[in-house]
Amino acid sequence: MSRLTAQLLDGKAVSQAIRSEIAHDVAALKRSAGVAPSLAAVLVGDDPASQVYVRNKIIACAEVGMRSVEVRLPPTATQDQLMARLRRLNEDPDVDGILVQLPLPPTLDRTAVILALDPAKDVDGLHPLNAGRLLMRLEAPVPCTPAGIVELLERYRLPIAGQHAVIVGRSEIVGRPLGILLLQRDATVTMCHSKTRELPVITRQADLLVAAIGRPAFIRAEHIREGATVIDVGVNRLGDARAAAALFGEDSPRVHQVRERGYTLVGDVHPREAAERAAHLTPVPGGIGPLTIACLLRNTLRAAQARRQAAVR
Ligand code: NDP
Repeated sequence: MSRLTAQLLDGKAVSQAIRSEIAHDVAALKRSAGVAPSLAAVLVGDDPASQVYVRNKIIACAEVGMRSVEVRLPPTATQDQLMARLRRLNEDPDVDGILVQLPLPPTLDRTAVILALDPAKDVDGLHPLNAGRLLMRLEAPVPCTPAGIVELLERYRLPIAGQHAVIVGRSEIVGRPLGILLLQRDATVTMCHSKTRELPVITRQADLLVAAIGRPAFIRAEHIREGATVIDVGVNRLGDARAAAALFGEDSPRVHQVRERGYTLVGDVHPREAAERAAHLTPVPGGIGPLTIACLLRNTLRAAQARRQAAVR
């Protein structure tokens, strides 16, 4: 059988299209309400990857005309200090959206933090009120990564209804809400996790395979049905040049990147093996990451529209 070469789904281009729509709506809100939406990004500690994510979100806000503030707390911050800071942001009339960059340092209670957020400002869609509203198909901020995945599939006109979607990973920010979104769009959804037996047997049944695991190149050829659509959510830092060469090829720029920068980003899907079996594949980087940010901007815009319009009434 001839080998397929997967079409790469360009998350960056789709995210640019979404961002232009948002920039347009931000300008309209500025004209009508006199003020741009504003996002507060809370970063606790000094995890380098989290610092990059927050910086990218701040830059993205500026690019669409939104305001943003980075709220930094030291790695030694206590739960009480973080909660007090969140209360102030909840009460600040000038803040429309709050995101707390995860993961938090292990000494802090993530659930308590999520419960403390004002649901109207919860632009990551993690508060139980918003998660419950999503389950009930009520208007709610949808967690950004799953929202971005659905948006990508829809803009590429890839079918969802009737497809067998297999999601590997059941986290509250990716796998679970994605399962709900796909089910609402009439996919048949199977959720897999670390206790799933015979994973490749299940994933090979997928028309649409989503990997949100956090393990570099975990999904191999044996997991993928020929012609499937493969969505790679994983973002892993690979610091070993030999491992990078095995994944991307000896002469790949990725190998030089590891030598020069110290790491390259790798998804949860083996890039070359997937490209040979899948019909559609998201790259890492440039796939789901940019879409996640675009959907965060959209949630912030919607939160601002709801608050500012309520204030006008
Ligand atoms: P979590 O660590 O919260 O969840 C990982 C999931 O993978 C769990 O459900 C776990 O199962 C499952 N898992 C772990 N090992 C296996 C295994 N051997 N076989 C099957 N399932 C397994 O991760 P997140 O959902 O937060 O993130 C997943 C990945 O996506 C990470 O690489 C992260 O960096 C990336 N990410 C990327 C984003 C983007 O914007 N592109 C946004 C968010 C995340 P169990 O529940 O049983 O433990």
